[in-house]
Amino acid sequence: MEIPFAENYKIKMVEPIYRSTREQRVRWIAEANYNLFNLRSEQVFIDLLTDSGTGAMSDRQWAAIMTGDESYAGSSSYYHLKETIRSIFGFEYFLPTHQGRAAENVLFSALVKEGDLVPGNSHFDTTKGHIEYRKAKAIDCTVDEAFDTESKFPFKGNVDLAKLEEVLKLQPEKNIPAIIITITCNTSGGQPVSMDNMKAVKQLADKYGVPVIYDSARFAENAWFIQQKEEGFAGKTIREIVSEMFSYADAMTMSSKKDGAVNIGGFIAMKDVSWYEKASTFNIMYEGFVTYGGMAGRDMNALAVGLNEVTTNDFLDTRIKQVHYLGDQLIEYGIPVQHPIGGHAVFVDAKKFFPHVPKEEFVAQTLAIILYLEAGVRGVEVGTLLADRDPETRDNRYPKLEFLRLAIPRRTYTNNHMDVVAAGLKNIYDIRDEIRTGLRIRKEAPIMRHFTVQLDKV
Ligand SMILES: *Cc1c(COP(=O)(O)O)cnc(C)c1O
Repeated sequence: MEIPFAENYKIKMVEPIYRSTREQRVRWIAEANYNLFNLRSEQVFIDLLTDSGTGAMSDRQWAAIMTGDESYAGSSSYYHLKETIRSIFGFEYFLPTHQGRAAENVLFSALVKEGDLVPGNSHFDTTKGHIEYRKAKAIDCTVDEAFDTESKFPFKGNVDLAKLEEVLKLQPEKNIPAIIITITCNTSGGQPVSMDNMKAVKQLADKYGVPVIYDSARFAENAWFIQQKEEGFAGKTIREIVSEMFSYADAMTMSSKKDGAVNIGGFIAMKDVSWYEKASTFNIMYEGFVTYGGMAGRDMNALAVGLNEVTTNDFLDTRIKQVHYLGDQLIEYGIPVQHPIGGHAVFVDAKKFFPHVPKEEFVAQTLAIILYLEAGVRGVEVGTLLADRDPETRDNRYPKLEFLRLAIPRRTYTNNHMDVVAAGLKNIYDIRDEIRTGLRIRKEAPIMRHFTVQLDKV
C-alpha cells in the first residue's frame, strides 16, 4: 500500500487544554455577551480564532532565542535576520517592526498622502485602515471569481488586470503611490495569487511607473499553491518560487506572526535606498532604532530561523494539508465552504449554512456561537459585524459573503482536533433547519465594533 502522508515533526513539549462541558460554555458565552473575543482562552478547547502569532516554534527557533543579541544598535540578531531576508526575498534594505500593521504604518507614512489611490487585490483590514486613515483610497481590483464561493478557480487572489488598468489610467490627475498585492489574499479566503498574475501586474505597473508592494504575511503558502497548481512550477523548490515572486515586487510588508512562524514581529523590506531612508525616520519615531524596530534581538533570531523553516515543502506540506484535511471533511459532509480551500483557514459559507436566519441577525456570528456551544471551538465571524456600519448613513453594511472563518495555527493542533471541529459542524448542519433566529446588538463601539460588541439572542 502507499505510505501515507505524516507530519514532518514530533512533539517535544505539550500545553494542556481544557475540555469544558456544554453547561459551562452556555454560561461563559452569555457572560461574554455572545462575543467570542470576550472569552478567556481557558474557556476554549480548540482555538481557531486566528493563525496570527498562535503557532508553535521549533526547537531550533527556541535555541535561537537563547542566542539572541539584545544590543540596542547593530546586534548580531539584526544582521542574522537581514541576511536571511536578503537571501530569501532578494531585498537589500530592511527595517524590523513590532508586527505587520506597524510595517504598514511606517511604510505608508513615507508613501501615502491624502487623495492618493492604492489599488490591489482585496486589501487586508489593517492595510485598508492605514490607507484610509491617511485619507487615501484602497481600490479592490480582485478577480470576480473570488466572490463566487463555488467557483473552483485556483487563483482567486489574482488581480483583475483590466480593473487595475482602469485605476492606473487615472494618473496624473490622481497620485498612485503603489499597487499592493496581498499574498495569499486573506480577505478573499486565504486565496493565492498566481506567478503569472504577479508578473503581469509588474509589467502593467512598470508601464505606468507605479511601484508594487507585497503584503506578504502568507507568502510561503502562496508559493506552495504556485508549486502545486500553476503550470511549470511543479519541479521548482519553494525558495526558487519565492525568489521569482519577489523579483516582481519593489517592496514588502510582513506580519511575521503568520509565515514568519513566530509569536510577534514584522518587517519592511525593499529595493530602493531612498524608500529605506524615508521609512527609517518613521521607523525610529514609531518603532525603535533601525536595527531592532520594536523587536527583541532574540525574536529577530527566532524569526530568521522561522523564515528558513517555512520556505520548505517539509513545513508547507504539513501545514496546508492539515487545513485541507479539515476542509475536505466539511465538503464530504456537504457543508458549504469557500472553494477551493485556502492556505491558512477554512471559510464556512454561513448564508448557505443557515438559510433561515435573517441577515439582520448576524448569520455567521450565530454559527460561530453555536459551534462554540457544540464543541468548544472558537472561530471568528467575517461578515456583517466585521463589515461595520456605513460611516454616513450608519446603516449596517451587508457584505456579499458571510463567513465563519476557522483559522488553523501552525504546528499546534493534531488532526484529531480537526475531527472534533468537523463533527461539531456536522451536528449543527444536521439540525440547520431548526435554526431560524440569530443575534441582535445590545451595545457597540462606533468603529471596529466586532472586537467589543455585546449581543443578545433573538
Ligand atoms: C495579519 C495581517 C496583517 C497585519 O499584521 P499584524 O501582525 O496582525 O499587525 C496585514 N496583512 C495581512 C494580509 C495579514 O494577514
